[in-house]
Amino acid sequence: MYRQNFVGGKWIDGGAGRIAVDDPASGAVFAEQACADAGDIDKAVAAARDCHRSGALSSMRPCERGRMVRGIGERLLQRRDEIALCLTRESGKPLWEASLEVEGTARYFEYYGNQAETLEGRSVPLGSDCYDFTVYEPYGVSAQIVPWNYPLEMTARSLAPALATGNACVVKTPELDPLSNGFVAEAVEAAGFPEGAVNLLCGIGKDAGAALAAHAEIAQIVFTGSVATGISVATSAARHVVPCLLELGGKSAAVVHRDADLQRLVDSVRWGIFFNAGQVCSALARLIVHRDIYEEVVEAVVGMAEGLSVGAGIERPTFGANMGAMISARQRERARLVCQEAVAEGAVLATGGDCLQGEGYFFAPTVFKDVTTEMKIAQEEVFAPVLAVMRAEDEEQALAMANDSPYGLVAGVFTENLEIAMRLAQGLRAGQVFVNEWYAGGVETPFGGYGRSGYGREKGREALWNYVQTKNIAIAMKQQQNREAVR
Ligand code: NAD
Repeated sequence: MYRQNFVGGKWIDGGAGRIAVDDPASGAVFAEQACADAGDIDKAVAAARDCHRSGALSSMRPCERGRMVRGIGERLLQRRDEIALCLTRESGKPLWEASLEVEGTARYFEYYGNQAETLEGRSVPLGSDCYDFTVYEPYGVSAQIVPWNYPLEMTARSLAPALATGNACVVKTPELDPLSNGFVAEAVEAAGFPEGAVNLLCGIGKDAGAALAAHAEIAQIVFTGSVATGISVATSAARHVVPCLLELGGKSAAVVHRDADLQRLVDSVRWGIFFNAGQVCSALARLIVHRDIYEEVVEAVVGMAEGLSVGAGIERPTFGANMGAMISARQRERARLVCQEAVAEGAVLATGGDCLQGEGYFFAPTVFKDVTTEMKIAQEEVFAPVLAVMRAEDEEQALAMANDSPYGLVAGVFTENLEIAMRLAQGLRAGQVFVNEWYAGGVETPFGGYGRSGYGREKGREALWNYVQTKNIAIAMKQQQNREAVR
């Protein structure tokens, strides 16, 4: 199987040759993807710029644009099973998780397609001498750089609002699992977008990604990925005074009060740290538990982790207590080293902590207990199925521990007491707080980080403001005496 890049409405080979794509469940290469170089990025930006200047997308009536955006999602849903199969093979995630991702991707196109015609400016009262109003205009060329953990959903999360608001887009897809984004390009083609409105191309981050971030003709950029790359992208963008949206990593914590519903908590931990093998920016990485129920919670969470069946995603078609492979040998080795270091620092390994034997990039669901805030395992993102459980004496200490992090993507509270939930929700430094269910919310709810987790918000209505700039139009009216003269 070989996938080309989609540039200026055409399928093209890559200036940098091809990328070999492997199956994380076996480690074997099964496909190739065109690999873009800086020249291909130039072509894509030029195609998007020309599309924008032509007005083909930006001048269209918003309800028509909205229909086309929704059309992308509808086409993806029609091919859900085929796309999920491809996504599972290239990413290692269970087939049921891949199907959920295709549905989530389609949902972004539905939601933002519906929003397209809802962006309205306002009229500013300035007295009878002036008539003033605002309009929202697209930036022009929106550049987007996508990570590998949810290659489809992360593409849709930025592409859908950018298109809905009339921007022409250049999307740099992730090199580890680029194939399923080819289906998005096919859906764009079939939905009838003007040539150059959407350009999807894969290339190596430090080459094609860096060339896109530094391009003088992009007007706005969205980066989703690691902090280190985010800083480099924002620095490049700043050189051309290009506004940047950063969606970066996290080390998110849940605070567990002693009255928490244990079953709900364990279900949330299962989703929070073992979904997508823990390779989620908003994973539940730290569990901060009141001392009165600490041992009970550790026992329940370890039991759940040990009950997960870990294996090939393709053999896991239905929702259940299971987990797939990690994305690459490199990510898995990193997780193994972090676990080794945690033991050396004094964290107690309750279960897992190592690679699983056999082919593929499988890692054991891992739980550390007796973790303390100064340990690396409590501070650094592992991006793997590795949970750190910490003991707190009381609510105040739990809150301080949760906030003792340079990140601030999401946080959680588990309690039956509304006052405690609200007090903690107010005190937690994070862009989103889940109460009694990790990942509560949806495409409709704004998402983004405090601190090192980034800036700006994706999802929900908030995201629309990333993709438009406000123009104020003031019309000076004729003065009263002149009006008399006219009469
Ligand atoms: P990464 O930063 O290595 O890569 C992300 C993307 O950037 C890829 O497409 C890559 O090719 C590209 N890239 C790499 N170097 C580049 C450069 N110098 N210039 C421009 N682009 C470059 O991150 P990753 O390993 O792919 O993803 C994992 C990270 O992403 C984790 O830290 C995770 O928390 C974060 N993430 C955040 C969110 C969020 O919404 N906040 C969502 C998903 C992932």
